[in-house]
Amino acid sequence: MSKCLFCQIANKELKAFILLENENFLSFLDIKPHSPGHSLIIPKKHLVSFTDLSEELYQDLIRIIKEAIFKISKKLKTSDFTIGINEGKLAGRLIDHLHFHVIPRFPNDNGGSIHSVVYNPPSQSVEEIYNLLKDEN
Ligand SMILES: [Zn+2]
Repeated sequence: MSKCLFCQIANKELKAFILLENENFLSFLDIKPHSPGHSLIIPKKHLVSFTDLSEELYQDLIRIIKEAIFKISKKLKTSDFTIGINEGKLAGRLIDHLHFHVIPRFPNDNGGSIHSVVYNPPSQSVEEIYNLLKDEN
């Protein structure tokens, strides 16, 4: 038996409230929801980082995120969502199996925008940062 919680869910060794499934991904309700319909989307294969996804998996991923949004929108009557990943420990990842949060948003839900997850403005100017990041050629 696999020790990774999300691998166990993907292998149906653990019960989950599965909303959607395709060949490579699974969407299920978060067991500690921050909002009604708060869902997770995981690759069935054990991958840790967003950058571990192959090109074809990206397409499957985008498709299942869109399907999840449509489904939740229709049933829970909202068109607003926060969608994201905690990429790495510093970003708050608790389980080392890649997972995407799809969090439906509702009026007065006490949430903020994605800008509210961090506030660490750089000491360098935006131009200095740009010069560090831009391609050399
Ligand atoms: Zn896993």
